[in-house]
Amino acid sequence: MKIMPNRLDRGFYQYQEEFENKALEVLRSGWYVLGNEVKQFEEEFAAYVGAKYCVGLASGLDALWMAFRILGVGEGDEVLVQSNTYIASVMGITINGATPVFVEPDECYGIDAASLESKITDKTKAILVVHLYGQACQMDTICQVAKKHNLYLVEDCAQSHGACYGERMTGTFGDIGCFSFYPSKNLGAFGDGGAITTDNPQIAEKMKIYRNYGSEKRYYNMVVGTNSRLDELQAGLLRVRLSHMKELTEEKIRIGERYDRELSNDAFELPKRRENANHVFHQYVIRTERRDELMRYLEEKGIGTIIHYPIPPHLAQAYEYLGFGKGDLPVAEQFADEVLSIPMYNGMTEEEQTYVIETLNAFE
Ligand SMILES: *Cc1c(COP(=O)(O)O)cnc(C)c1O
Repeated sequence: MKIMPNRLDRGFYQYQEEFENKALEVLRSGWYVLGNEVKQFEEEFAAYVGAKYCVGLASGLDALWMAFRILGVGEGDEVLVQSNTYIASVMGITINGATPVFVEPDECYGIDAASLESKITDKTKAILVVHLYGQACQMDTICQVAKKHNLYLVEDCAQSHGACYGERMTGTFGDIGCFSFYPSKNLGAFGDGGAITTDNPQIAEKMKIYRNYGSEKRYYNMVVGTNSRLDELQAGLLRVRLSHMKELTEEKIRIGERYDRELSNDAFELPKRRENANHVFHQYVIRTERRDELMRYLEEKGIGTIIHYPIPPHLAQAYEYLGFGKGDLPVAEQFADEVLSIPMYNGMTEEEQTYVIETLNAFE
């Protein structure tokens, strides 16, 4: 059997007719940028997340850097961010000229809430939490620290659509929640897309102006903004998928729970669950010192896997200028050497799951 780490085509065929009808509807409408589909999607997604406002943007990275831009976080400011994230989180900070201050992750791959305070200086302006792999960070402590030190709180929810901490969904804890709709995300488009969520009407208003060249009224530009608009086709297709988000999330949770139950091999560790949080399994990430060997073994058996992520941001060539070296952030570096994401996608058959489980259990 041949199993790829992800199968985006399956996600399409699950609701093929609805996607095709919506695509034709938008194509025939004659309106392609910032129209009714975007407006409807923003309302529906805000309601889904439980936030007052949503603003559609062109990507998750745009959501991140525009969030800090609008909060006024830039040159000379420090932002706390976890050391094991995807590099886009860090770029969201550095595009604005602000400095990332790395905080190591906890055992659930979220920012280690207990060590946040020790990293705060006079220059700290914000905390960026990343609900990595589909599980929320420890939001009780994080919200308390942000409040106590009067810091902005921004959430990178690119991997956590539908993930909750307590009763609340990620994207409702911070000043701004940043989402990506890149095709492989839990709520994926058929191209690029992103959004922010917020309860603050001024932030939502500013974001709408900023995404459209800084103009509210056409040709009257108030600030130097950018072009970061979610398009009508993506918004329409996202509305279709959003209407099935409950069952899509449940499906991934079912696969994750089956892996939890049936995977059994001392050669690797299963993902740990955070108390008071659900896990929506954007990725199912196992960990082992024999990662590269395990990856090769699975490849030989026809099972594709991915490493999220092999190089932590502080060691990326792009961030050489920050002056970090190997050994500076040992937890993130260890995770980069040991993590492995096994196949996990909507539309994955029972038979495929069984093959992955049996093959992993047979690894010696
Ligand atoms: C995908 C991702 C992003 C960036 O989203 P794009 O839409 O690809 O720009 C940011 N942060 C995390 C954690 C991601 O997984």
